Amino acid sequence: MQRTALLLLACLASTFSHAQPADVTPIECGNCTRWNTAQTPFRLFGNSYYIGTRGLSSVLIDTGAGLIVLDGALPQSAPLIAENIRELGFELHDVRWVLSSHAHFDHAGGIAALARMSGAQVAASTRGANALRMGTVTADDPQAGYGMGNAYPAIEHVTEIVDDGTLTLGNTRVRAHYTPGHTPGSTTWSWQSCEAERCVTMVYADSLNAVAAPGFRFSDTPARIAQFRTSIARVALLRCDILVPVHPEFGDLFNRLLHGSNTSRFVNANACQRYATAARKRLQQTIANETVPAPAPSTK
Ligand SMILES: [Zn+2]
Repeated sequence: MQRTALLLLACLASTFSHAQPADVTPIECGNCTRWNTAQTPFRLFGNSYYIGTRGLSSVLIDTGAGLIVLDGALPQSAPLIAENIRELGFELHDVRWVLSSHAHFDHAGGIAALARMSGAQVAASTRGANALRMGTVTADDPQAGYGMGNAYPAIEHVTEIVDDGTLTLGNTRVRAHYTPGHTPGSTTWSWQSCEAERCVTMVYADSLNAVAAPGFRFSDTPARIAQFRTSIARVALLRCDILVPVHPEFGDLFNRLLHGSNTSRFVNANACQRYATAARKRLQQTIANETVPAPAPSTK
């Protein structure tokens, strides 16, 4: 009897010691496995590194007085991102801030875990912070119609950075450029990164993709389309030497990683304009598709 109880206790202890924290419980989605493929981290320029997965970006900035991380990808990406930080020779507990681009599960899903593991604070735009605290999208998000499918680990304490506001740590000042459209809180971040005598402007560009849940129409709210177009124009006009889009496949990062070797391989002065042009076309196409009349409802 006593032996059985001891065995049971041992089993329970083993179960709990191997239990995953809830904030890294994998989210399942059509693209999640592909997105979460491990990616070896690499230097982008100077103090800035790519630490994301193959399909979802995350960037590390070594400010000399602590680390800043942009985005956490999926909950199941957080351990991969943490490993990438260590692989670059940095300590997880030196991460002071995790910044959010937009509050969808594929970019903000891993932020709670990264903040827990590192002790970092989290910052986002005002609207983005509202969503992060809820652990889902706000009601006015174009993808709100997916309901519970939008959920991800909530973050209780989120510092709000105003539009054009900055967050300074060590030698780096990161600037928030509000770019609403894909979500109401969408934010593009930029900073200077220096190497020897040369400084470049890094842009971590939020999604500018017009994507919506079924039943949502951007064209129902002309002000929303105008706002989206303003965001796209804003990104096109940014000082932008190196672009890292939140979905790396929307830039040519990995192509440049393969085909360049010098420290300038990621520099592309046209990258933000091209990114904006593609987004403008996609928004136009989305709006055009919305004018196609829906099929008549069945009377059966
Ligand atoms: Zn999104």
